[in-house]
Amino acid sequence: MRLPHYIGGMHVPSADGAEFEVADPVTNKVYATVAAGGERDIDDAVAVATAAFPRWAAFDTRRRATVLNRIADGIEARAAKIAETETFDTGLPITQARGQAARAAENFRFFADVAVTMHEDAFRTPGQLGYVTRDPAGVAGLITPWNTPFMLESWKLAPALAAGCAVVLKPAEWTPLSASLLPEIMTEAGVPDGVFNIVHGIGEQAGAALVAHPGVPRISFTGETTTGRLIMAAAAPHLKGLSMELGGKSPCLIFADADLDKAVDSSLFGVFSLNGERCTAGSRILAERQIYDELVTRLAARAKRIRVGDPSDPKTEIGALVHPEHYARVLSYVQAGRDEGARLVAGGARPAKLPTGNYLAATVFADVTPGMRIFREEIFGPVVCVTPFDNESSAIELANATSYGLAAYIWTSDLSRAHRVAHSVQSGMTWVNSHNVRDLRTPFGGVKSSGLGREGGPHSLDFYTQTRMVHIALTPPKTPRFGSE
Ligand code: NAD
Repeated sequence: MRLPHYIGGMHVPSADGAEFEVADPVTNKVYATVAAGGERDIDDAVAVATAAFPRWAAFDTRRRATVLNRIADGIEARAAKIAETETFDTGLPITQARGQAARAAENFRFFADVAVTMHEDAFRTPGQLGYVTRDPAGVAGLITPWNTPFMLESWKLAPALAAGCAVVLKPAEWTPLSASLLPEIMTEAGVPDGVFNIVHGIGEQAGAALVAHPGVPRISFTGETTTGRLIMAAAAPHLKGLSMELGGKSPCLIFADADLDKAVDSSLFGVFSLNGERCTAGSRILAERQIYDELVTRLAARAKRIRVGDPSDPKTEIGALVHPEHYARVLSYVQAGRDEGARLVAGGARPAKLPTGNYLAATVFADVTPGMRIFREEIFGPVVCVTPFDNESSAIELANATSYGLAAYIWTSDLSRAHRVAHSVQSGMTWVNSHNVRDLRTPFGGVKSSGLGREGGPHSLDFYTQTRMVHIALTPPKTPRFGSE
């Protein structure tokens, strides 16, 4: 199979003919040869996007919203195919990939609604009327990671298109397949040629060229913190608008007064769903000392029963990790946990029945201390650390003892404590007595090394538009008469 770029409504190879190979995570065999974009391909894509932008920006919002709803229809009509494609390419369990396909459609419907309800402000004083108009920012560069690729692409495409931007999407090089379903969906929905473009390629080439292109005023990036830092530095000379959704090492604090049954279900799902390749994974479980031993025993027993296997089997709960390189990295963290003295109570190796493929049994480390790498660094796989705490203040201290600050989860039946802790944990998003249940209207994003800026609802529209403030004098203002005497 060959996957070309999609530029100006045409499927095209790279200008210099460069390609790269992609393998699936179950067999690790090459299944596709993909166009490897570089500066010339990005130049071409930005040129057609720039040319198409004024026409799309001039669509009234209702017309754009209608197109977005048709994109959602197109996704729903192909939901089974999208989920199968995603499972094949990423190794995500099929039942979870189906959920992600449904979420992608919902993102387009949601931003269709946001577009038509978006308002502009007016400000009045006795002498002056000011009003704000909002214009699409221009060509937006969208750079996405390999975990839940289709859903995350929709999370950027929907608000960018709703705002009236033209886009150049650079999908992750390990998982380019599901993006190749988008051109047909976009065309059928009535997106004019040139408004939506895909340039595949390696991050340091295609991605870097997009970030460096002076004709792209906005870059929305989701990926690793280290990559985010490089992108911010590369975008600085152009003063681009950046949205940075980066890594996480989110704590799940379980107090002794919590509903333990629910906390166990939720914390296991929170870290082991999506193969643990999830930015908001609650990958550090912090448990109050009174319940610590019981919790560790229960987590370990349940983790051992989590079904790891063929991602396309609906019974599978953890599939194959995306790529052998990533698999090796996750395994190196398992080794680091052992070396640093954490107590391995479940998993830690490939399940015996799965001799090939990037499989790792659900892994639980107990007695993890803040000095250990597995406590501080993002593993991005099915590995969870459990650490005891003695009181509320030490729980908060532990929760904040990483450089990340994306999400936090708090389990307690004490309402005041829930609020107190929620206000003290350094995270962009906190859930109390729940895992990550998203409300699409709310601000999504992190603090510290987890990112900069917020996406979601009106926050995304703020990013993809720019405001213009117009001040009108209703009565002549008092003006000092310089040079009059
Ligand atoms: P990554 O940073 O390696 O790659 C992400 C994208 O950036 C890819 O498309 C890649 O090609 C591109 N890229 C790489 N180097 C680049 C460069 N120099 N210039 C421009 N583009 C470049 O991340 P990944 O490994 O694909 O994804 C996993 C990471 O994403 C994890 O850290 C995870 O926490 C994070 N993530 C964050 C969120 C969030 O919303 N905060 C959501 C999902 C994933």
